[in-house]
Amino acid sequence: MSPSEAVYRGRLAPSPTGFLHLGHARTFWIAQERCRTQGGTLILRNDDLDEARCRPEFSTAMVEDLHWFGLQWEEGPDCGGPVGPYVQSQRLEYYRAALVKLIAGGWVYPCTCSRKDILAASRAPHAVDDEEPVYPGTCRGRCLEMMHGQKFSWRYRVPDGQRVEFVDQNLGQQQFVAGRDFGDFVVWRHDKVPAYQLACTVDDAAMGVTEVVRGADLLMSTARQRLLYNSLALVPPAFYHCQLMVDETGQRLAKRNDALSLRTLRQQGWQPEALQSPF
Ligand code: GLU
Ligand code: ZN
Repeated sequence: MSPSEAVYRGRLAPSPTGFLHLGHARTFWIAQERCRTQGGTLILRNDDLDEARCRPEFSTAMVEDLHWFGLQWEEGPDCGGPVGPYVQSQRLEYYRAALVKLIAGGWVYPCTCSRKDILAASRAPHAVDDEEPVYPGTCRGRCLEMMHGQKFSWRYRVPDGQRVEFVDQNLGQQQFVAGRDFGDFVVWRHDKVPAYQLACTVDDAAMGVTEVVRGADLLMSTARQRLLYNSLALVPPAFYHCQLMVDETGQRLAKRNDALSLRTLRQQGWQPEALQSPF
């Protein structure tokens, strides 16, 4: 079966780190529309790996707010499905297996740098829409045997100077240069939690997602993840990046701006239909 004949599978992958806002709703609405027009299956995945920031009450609120907004999925934590569990904290074995592959393939190395070290040694200022500074390469030559007793993360070695290109289904041709636009990135955190890039890649592949719809702030993460697909011998899905919503001052909406949270809008008496119509 060629990719164009494959049955469309889309996903909504919120992290329960706060209440969802109108920006999330818009991205998810577009994801749902794209899935519907292709007669596909929509998945809800709970990206709850970051224990320090995720809270169970936000997971509950998430499902409630998404339903209120008019989003419906066929597979998810609340309704099950063939490729579950749909909660990342219950999928650690999949991420571990992927990490083992990356270590065996020599794609990653142990790194003891703190965020502060990296910022101090950083050779390039980081891009505005991607908060990650380019890693200066300090630990590139290290191996596991040198780590005795130290805390370390696993970092992916990007192919310096190599172009990562893909055609975005919304924004067209994209091109990033590894080592310049983004550097070596963490796949496994020093506190033994799989990092977003790895967990997301592993799950999108394992869940048979054929198109990832996400915000344009994640374009460079998509470039990183494409490298992971390659290293793990997985076929990448198509990508559709949505323009981000901004508030009246031109600032990107974030979970910290409570004003446009779906909860608040609902309490103010907004009807979902009125909010959906401009999307
Ligand atoms: N859980 C991630 C987030 O909310 C998913 C992003 C994505 O890969 O679409 O930022
Ligand atoms: Zn390091």
